[in-house]
Amino acid sequence: MKFIGCDYEYSSADIIVFGAPFDGTASNRPGSRFAPDAMRAESYGIETYSPYVDKDLEDLKICDAGDLEFPFGNPKLVVRLIEDKVAKMFADDKLPIMLGGEHLVTLGAAKAAFDKYPGLHIIHFDAHTDLRDHYLGEKLSHATVIRRCWDFLGDDRIYQFGIRSGMKEEFEWAKEHTILQKFNLEGLDEAINKLADKPVYLTIDLDVVDPSEFCGTGTPEAGGVTFTALREAIEKMSRLNIVGADLVELAPHLDASGASTALACKVLRELLLCVG
Ligand code: MN
Ligand code: MN
Repeated sequence: MKFIGCDYEYSSADIIVFGAPFDGTASNRPGSRFAPDAMRAESYGIETYSPYVDKDLEDLKICDAGDLEFPFGNPKLVVRLIEDKVAKMFADDKLPIMLGGEHLVTLGAAKAAFDKYPGLHIIHFDAHTDLRDHYLGEKLSHATVIRRCWDFLGDDRIYQFGIRSGMKEEFEWAKEHTILQKFNLEGLDEAINKLADKPVYLTIDLDVVDPSEFCGTGTPEAGGVTFTALREAIEKMSRLNIVGADLVELAPHLDASGASTALACKVLRELLLCVG
């Protein structure tokens, strides 16, 4: 099964949607490995047409390339497999859109994007800082992923929005090294103006959305943004040169109603129409 409106072959597509079903470092409740297939199945409940931006997925050349296959219990190898796969997509002149999985999967895709575009910047939506240097001694974790991206990007290349959870040390560290907007998406316009001519990798940890609308995630965090705010932010970012993006941390089985998966499908549709 493919995500709705993503029926092109790899060779003729401009945009490649693919799944990275890994949740091996999830610190609280796992389950995000089931997200890509859940989204594909649920996607037939939404339309390919977006009344928000008056565009249709059918007018874009999108391939749903299925899921990567991962070994269990080896985050380092998983990250490398993603990096290799995304590097191949860049070599083939494709725009990768990755469906997690947990947030660690971003590391492989962002590294491949940085190798292709050395001027890369990251825009990061999340409830959590994800800036720990290690988590219980582990350097590769969904709680360290943005810190690992900083390792190769360096200072002032990472814009974080919606952040409302993390250790005091992470917030202190962010003051020196990233541009971090607490609680909401204020400052996005300014960031878009600054990044207008830069290559951008966009990573959306869906737990940035308030649990009242999106409870199907491993570490729900009250006080989040609305779907509407996130949707409007995505529309604004169509002005940017987004070279790759991902949606992570949907754990479909944690929301028996299916509403979280449906929300994720809508976010993906709007994201595809934004980059397309
Ligand atoms: Mn995250
Ligand atoms: Mn998060």
